[in-house]
Amino acid sequence: MLFELDEEKRLFRQTVRDFAEQEIRPHVERLWETGEFPYDIVRKMGELGLLGIPWPEEYGGAGGDYLAYAIAVEELARVDGSCAITVEAHISLGSAPFYYYGTEEQKRDWLVPLAQGKMLGAFGLTEPEAGSDAGNTKTRAELRDGHWVINGTKCFITNPGTEMSGVVTITAVTGIRPSGKKEISNIFIPKGTPGYNIAPKYRKMGWHASDTRELNFVDCKVPESNLIGKRGEGFKQFLDCLDGGRIAIAALAVGTAQGAFEEALRYAKERVQFGQPIGKFQGVSFKLADMATEIELARNMAYKAAAMRDAGVPHTKEASMAKLFASEMCMRAATQAVQIFGGYGFMEEYPVSRFFRDAKILEIGEGTSEVQRMVISRELGL
Ligand SMILES: Cc1cc2nc3c(=O)[nH]c(=O)nc-3n(C[C@H](O)[C@H](O)[C@H](O)COP(=O)(O)OP(=O)(O)OC[C@H]3O[C@@H](n4cnc5c(N)ncnc54)[C@H](O)[C@@H]3O)c2cc1C
Repeated sequence: MLFELDEEKRLFRQTVRDFAEQEIRPHVERLWETGEFPYDIVRKMGELGLLGIPWPEEYGGAGGDYLAYAIAVEELARVDGSCAITVEAHISLGSAPFYYYGTEEQKRDWLVPLAQGKMLGAFGLTEPEAGSDAGNTKTRAELRDGHWVINGTKCFITNPGTEMSGVVTITAVTGIRPSGKKEISNIFIPKGTPGYNIAPKYRKMGWHASDTRELNFVDCKVPESNLIGKRGEGFKQFLDCLDGGRIAIAALAVGTAQGAFEEALRYAKERVQFGQPIGKFQGVSFKLADMATEIELARNMAYKAAAMRDAGVPHTKEASMAKLFASEMCMRAATQAVQIFGGYGFMEEYPVSRFFRDAKILEIGEGTSEVQRMVISRELGL
């Protein structure tokens, strides 16, 4: 068994790498400083097909697979985490529910423009009182005269408030089951619908240019046909979407770690102390050796989980393992990269400080490390 990407995937990686180097890298510092949403870059990514990589061409996608998507997210994150998470949240969270569960009409109306990069999509699961305990959703959707009337609040949602944002899919309680448990369904809400209020952007530790906001729904009315998939299957649907999302977050972590590693490797060869480059000291070179080893392992885990998703075999455990290991590895790698830069690593103008701040969220978003350990334990029969 050879762990080699085929020619097509290698070419694809190079294309995304070139794009990230030429179109994103020159703007990274400005975007970080200003927190501006990178409209030009996102539009260009749309033109390149990066906003619809895994979806079929008939739905406006690039006709690629999950592995290609993981590679793209990794390459974007190697240069800029904000651009990478914008693509990741758009595909895994904003577009996936339409592709996997949407009707033909919903796919034509929403998946096509999303996949073509004409609009951005978002997914609202998290609430102030329902984070890891996502089943504790309080947002309600009541069916009245052929419309869902939605009330509730979602927090920390990626991509809903930009000029390109077109739609958010949310989980909402649509009833109570005979067992007394909540019936949760997925419903999409076009931006601009009365009663759908979008708060200003959060100020964040990292991912400054990514769009993260609180959403509030007050008697927000959408047609009954905005239900995605079957009523009551919202929980199951988002768990499956999250399996895919976790693979992409693992890839995002690999890319972030790779970016930090490359900075540290270059610096270790240049920075002279005690009369020689610091990379010549075993205390520094072993750090870099460990980083390279762990990045390689995390990359293999992410690609394996992606290939399993592409093959249509169960991959919940592998997706969670990849996300858990890659995100924690990324935090370790980014910490060591800052260490190798010494005091300079603590300075804002050095990219390692940015990678360090971008790394932390990877242990939290799309299921914290603790949640991943819960999922893996469950898969082990515990
Ligand atoms: C930048 C950013 C972007 C995001 N984008 C989105 C998005 O697009 N859509 C969306 O729906 N959400 C999004 N989120 C939300 C994210 O998924 C949640 O923050 C995450 O799932 C954790 O939920 P919480 O913040 O409520 O933490 P909590 O669930 O309150 O957890 C707090 C701590 O308790 C631990 N904990 C909780 N329960 C247990 C347990 N049973 N055992 C052990 N430890 C436990 C957690 O691991 C964590 O360490 C985003 C968050 C951020 C910061």
